[in-house]
Amino acid sequence: METAMMKDLQKKYEELVDLDKAHFLHPTSSIKQHQENGPAFIFTEGEGIYLKDIQGNKLIDSLSSLWNVNIGHGRKELGEVAAEQMGKLGFASTFATWSHEPVIRLAQKVAEMTPGDLNTTFFTSGGSEANDTAFKTVRHYWKLKGQPEKKKIVSRKKSYHGVAMGSTSATGLKPFHDFTTSIAPDFHHVDSSADALRAFIDEEGAETIAAFITEPVQGSGGVNLPPDGYFQEVQQICKENNIIFIMDEVITGFGRTGKTFGSDHFNIVPDIMCIAKGITSGYAPLGGMVLTERLYKELIDLSGDGMFMHGYTYSGHPVSCAVALKNIEIIEREGLVEHVREMGEELLRGFEMLKQEHDSVKDYRGLGLLGAVGLDAGTEEPIAPKVVSECFKRGMIGRAVVYDGQDTLAFAPPFVITKEQVQEMIDIVHESLVAVEKDL
Ligand code: PMP
Repeated sequence: METAMMKDLQKKYEELVDLDKAHFLHPTSSIKQHQENGPAFIFTEGEGIYLKDIQGNKLIDSLSSLWNVNIGHGRKELGEVAAEQMGKLGFASTFATWSHEPVIRLAQKVAEMTPGDLNTTFFTSGGSEANDTAFKTVRHYWKLKGQPEKKKIVSRKKSYHGVAMGSTSATGLKPFHDFTTSIAPDFHHVDSSADALRAFIDEEGAETIAAFITEPVQGSGGVNLPPDGYFQEVQQICKENNIIFIMDEVITGFGRTGKTFGSDHFNIVPDIMCIAKGITSGYAPLGGMVLTERLYKELIDLSGDGMFMHGYTYSGHPVSCAVALKNIEIIEREGLVEHVREMGEELLRGFEMLKQEHDSVKDYRGLGLLGAVGLDAGTEEPIAPKVVSECFKRGMIGRAVVYDGQDTLAFAPPFVITKEQVQEMIDIVHESLVAVEKDL
């Protein structure tokens, strides 16, 4: 009986692998590897910090999938709220001033949560669209102000801002540029120092620069914390030069760093904040651009009878908005931001242990549950991908960052992780490092 069931399952697995290879072009992956090996995982369900795949593996999701499943997997409440919203109003347009209650309530909630006078949100389906919306909005703004030549977008090297045409161009990681023949004009990347930004402004002229965009903590580029005092100085430079300051809080927003927003750590109120991922914990696609009251009032005054000629079909999707409201309610109800702070300290203690025990661990860093371990085994090739393979054998999905010669392991587990589970994660990394070091 059991073998018959296992045979069926194996057959289904093989069928899905073949179909996946034939019909599914995967995002950010090697086509060759996909064609040779098929999909690395076919997930079937999730619970808390764990994912299960079709072959019966139970795996710790150490990056909350894509730094987004913050409240953890398998939250039935979100399914219920989505079903209720779909049954009532599955979709309605928000173009041409049409509206609905979930989007209104969520916009109000975001205004309440974001720092300072960040009070008005334009909704998108994700982070790339949020950043593209910000770039178009700042150019629109300067055009309305009679300064259409003020259009350059400046970002930092090693930044990640998404993969739409504008957000790819702002992303400061070369492989994303090399994928295509050229990035959009008027996008520039600077080193992560206030002096580098100053030098760029001196060279190009403030009258040509629309905005500066940065993540509070660089995520996909290797979990890089900002230099001390960097944001305060950079914001001052932007103010002095009439450059709009955009914070990309797509990873850091809604509690990931142990405060509601990354900006809260640095007492920064950006002119524009971009959000996504954690607003729904990934249960439904949603992102947004939040404007300060000052900027929005100016836009109102400058717009006159003109239209805001930008909008996505799914701007303010009612189901995504209802899911976001419930997700935020859960974060608040369970005190998860506070818990992230505590677990973040556990994670750093674990990293310190790894550093003590392994010569190949060079350094570590973290803010809340956003952390990384820097490796250096003295080898030509980075070892992080090998460590990740070993972690998988021991029941954990890990993430290696190898851009720009880095050799880094990134961590961003779900907020609901316990002290014991942090230790379990660290133990797996420890054993994996032992296995990799043995073969060096
Ligand atoms: N900005 C940051 C900081 C991100 O980490 C990401 C996604 N990893 C994006 C933007 C793009 O978001 P999305 O993939 O939802 O378009």
